Amino acid sequence: MKECYAKVTAIEGNKVWLDQTVFFAFSGGQASDKGAINGINVLEAVKQDDEIYYVLEKEPKFAVGDNVKVEIDWSYRHKIMKLHSAAHIVYYFFIEKAGEQKVIGSNINIDKARLDFAYNESISQMLPEIQEKTMEVINKGIDIKTFEDEKDPSRRLWECGKWLMPCGGTHVRNTKEIGQIKLKRNNIGAGKERIEVSLVS
Ligand SMILES: [Zn+2]
Repeated sequence: MKECYAKVTAIEGNKVWLDQTVFFAFSGGQASDKGAINGINVLEAVKQDDEIYYVLEKEPKFAVGDNVKVEIDWSYRHKIMKLHSAAHIVYYFFIEKAGEQKVIGSNINIDKARLDFAYNESISQMLPEIQEKTMEVINKGIDIKTFEDEKDPSRRLWECGKWLMPCGGTHVRNTKEIGQIKLKRNNIGAGKERIEVSLVS
C-alpha cells in the first residue's frame, strides 16, 4: 500500500499522530519512510512504544479529528525494500562461508544496507563469491514472504526458499525485483567486519 486515509488523533506543533498508516517508522535498523500527510512533507516517522508519530516539515493546518491523506514516497521505500531483502540473502551466504555468525549491527537506508559481524579476519576475499551467489538467487526469481509468527503474534517472519528468519521490516515479493547489487567490505575497528550492500541501477 502506498497511500491511505487516516484520522488525526493528536497534534503537537509539527508532530502528528494518526489512527492508521502506510508508513514504516524507523525500527529494526530499517530507515523511516518519507512521504506526506495532506501534502505536507513528513521528515520522519518515529516509533515510540506502540505508537508512531510523524514529524512534519511545518505545522499543519488540519486539526484533530480531520481525515487526512497519508502517502509514502514509493521509489524511496522500494529501494529500501530491495536492500533489506538483499541484506538477508547476503547474510545467509556469509554464514555459509564463515560459519554461524551473529549480526552485531545492521542498518538499512536509501544508499545501502550494512551488516556488522564480530569477525577477526578480513572478509574481502569472500565477497566476490557471496556477491555471485546472491546474484544467482536474485536472478532465479524466488518468492519472498513476510507473515506473522503463529507461535508469537508479536513477531513477524521472513521466508525465502529454504531460509526463514524473524524480521519486522518491509521486503520485495520476489528476489528478481532487487536487480543488480554490489558488495563492499568496510573495516569498522579491530575484530569487526562490515558488509555494505548497494544497488547498482
Ligand atoms: Zn530484516
